[in-house]
Amino acid sequence: MRFEEIPGLLALKEILVLSHQRNHMAHAQLFSGQEGGAALPLAIAYATYLLCENKASADACGSCSACQKMAKHIHPDVHYFFPSSKSEKEDGKQQTRVSEVWRKFIIEQPYAVLGDLISVLDTENKQNQISKEEAKKIVRTVSMKSFEGGLKILIIWYPEKMNSAAANAILKVLEEPPENTLYLMVTYHYEDLLTTIISRLQLVTIPSFSEGELTGYLVNNHGATAENAIKAYRFSNGSLPKAVADLEEDNEDELHWFIDWMRNCIGAKYDFLSQMSEKFKQISRAKQQIKMRWALEMIRNAILVKGAEDLISAQGAERVFILKFSNAINLQGLELIYKDISETLYYLERHAHPQMAQLALSIRLSHIIRANRG
Ligand SMILES: [Zn+2]
Repeated sequence: MRFEEIPGLLALKEILVLSHQRNHMAHAQLFSGQEGGAALPLAIAYATYLLCENKASADACGSCSACQKMAKHIHPDVHYFFPSSKSEKEDGKQQTRVSEVWRKFIIEQPYAVLGDLISVLDTENKQNQISKEEAKKIVRTVSMKSFEGGLKILIIWYPEKMNSAAANAILKVLEEPPENTLYLMVTYHYEDLLTTIISRLQLVTIPSFSEGELTGYLVNNHGATAENAIKAYRFSNGSLPKAVADLEEDNEDELHWFIDWMRNCIGAKYDFLSQMSEKFKQISRAKQQIKMRWALEMIRNAILVKGAEDLISAQGAERVFILKFSNAINLQGLELIYKDISETLYYLERHAHPQMAQLALSIRLSHIIRANRG
């Protein structure tokens, strides 16, 4: 990852480069931004720039041996720490698997959120945190010599997921690291960090993408039309993965998915509902949320239709289904469904287990529908 690959944020990139050129770089920095924004890619691009053996004035070269290792996340002097369900008993084999999964994950989804990693590692049912054992590993890493004789960089993703025992374990090495050690912590919930940690870090606030930055990225990298890019930006709240997911979603697919779902709920077909929730788990977090938002919009329309049919703008197959669905269920039932789907969406946004959340919702909706026939 080079600075150039990250849309916009020119002023901030320049500040990072200048801090190195003028020798003003703080040894412990806290990149704070919104989920789905550029905080992690920027930390990686910054590390790449610092380690590059052939820097241009404003970016890494992209082709030297250090840059190539950084592109694969195998540079021996860059160490990643992130929340996981690791335990003390865990063997080396399992740790290697997690590192491999991480490398692939971060190449494919550099703008991802923690929920995406949890899905990939399949650890939704476990506590995902930076444990005290992991903190001890940070301390050991700090005391090691740099492999290539230069800077050693620790990138810590979601330090807010450190419990207080873990945070206390790293305080000393955070304050007095050996020479040539750089900490880059990447946080999205600044307020959840212990003040003892915050006070030892230099805060770097990562601004959200502007409309122009994000839409330009969607047009250049995803072939979006200007109109679709603006629509995706508005939906995304500045989150790049959400904007990309919105762009990739096809409204027709959403409609079929929703119709299937509701039919299986109406018919109480639990086998099919269970299969649907399994498939739901396979898609990205951003897409799961799009499906739920789409479902909410359909239910909202079904409620509006109760007042007057001309209140909705949906056309074609979508309109036909909304009218039928609105007819089949009474107003109270539709309102209960709306409330239940919004609550599930809320939990999905906060790392709920997608398969279980969606299946439990389906079963509840099935009951609501059958108790509230129109
Ligand atoms: Zn290079």
